Amino acid sequence: MIYRGKNILPFLLRWPESLNNNEIDFIKQFYNDYSIPFIKELVLKENIVPFASHIFIFLKCDESYWKKEHDLFLKRNTIIKSTLDSIFNKSNSAGIKSLTLTENFASLLLSKSCLGCFSSGDVDLSADISEKDKIILCMKSVRFFVDKRKKSSSITEKQCTMFYNDSIIDSGLWINVVWVSVTRSFLDQKKFNTRLYSSRLNPTIIDNTDIRVLSPTSLLYFCALHIAAGHYYTLSPGIRLYVDIDRLVLNFKINWDQIIKWEKEDNSGIRISMVLFLCKNLLKTKIPNKVFKKILDDSAELKSYLYNPKSMMIQKNGGRINRLYVELASKSRNLVTFLIERFVKSFVSSV
Ligand SMILES: [Zn+2]
Repeated sequence: MIYRGKNILPFLLRWPESLNNNEIDFIKQFYNDYSIPFIKELVLKENIVPFASHIFIFLKCDESYWKKEHDLFLKRNTIIKSTLDSIFNKSNSAGIKSLTLTENFASLLLSKSCLGCFSSGDVDLSADISEKDKIILCMKSVRFFVDKRKKSSSITEKQCTMFYNDSIIDSGLWINVVWVSVTRSFLDQKKFNTRLYSSRLNPTIIDNTDIRVLSPTSLLYFCALHIAAGHYYTLSPGIRLYVDIDRLVLNFKINWDQIIKWEKEDNSGIRISMVLFLCKNLLKTKIPNKVFKKILDDSAELKSYLYNPKSMMIQKNGGRINRLYVELASKSRNLVTFLIERFVKSFVSSV
């Protein structure tokens, strides 16, 4: 939603303490111009209720109302955390070596960010497919059973196995165990898979639990890859994806030289750079410019296709031709792919 010429959503996803006075005033003005039911409907539609609630509590806007909303998520996410702890506890006993929590819930636990601020309906684990049988037994022992979601029919068993429990939380909980670095991707994944395999061998254990996650720099790299290749940078759930990167950067000293080196070694094209560029622009995350130096002058077309710096709106069109354009524009280029990219670009419009 545009408010006074700007998309209000990135403001509602910020870590409250990172907001400057102008940004605080902007959010407060927005809040005062609309009613609670209107704002509730907006944040519900965007599935960002706990994040927005956290900001409104911080800014003392109807604190008690938003605290109730935030508490519901805190309660739900506490159950998710303890469920994951049981899974990792059982997996340790079963001698499973590769299982690691990944993506958004991993970023949240690792960065010791607010446990309430998580609103996804599923959690992702990463593991080596050679341990699949043991993992299925382990998941069964905590009452998660193999299931297949209709909407994910394009994802194959070799990429991901989905588990479901219908009673742990009200809406039911999906846990996906992903066997490759990214599902839903045209990407040549061999190099990413090798890196992920070795990164999983040196996990960080979340305090007072058995939950294993990747180390901060590795997790940031794979979160960025997931946003670029799995969600074409800005497709559903949109800006919320960038919160994972933002919270990791806020809480850790990321090894940026390593990130630049890995992007090159894995032939990632501009995928990681573009995600970090967008993150800095949308959430004002403190990412050094050297990390996306190679796209500052170049890739202007893809940048303006994905993101409008004035309104802070992002591209939401996920049609097949749009996805093809993003894929082509993200690769390391040669003349042939460049010409095809130009041709495909003529069919799609910027945000
Ligand atoms: Zn919170």
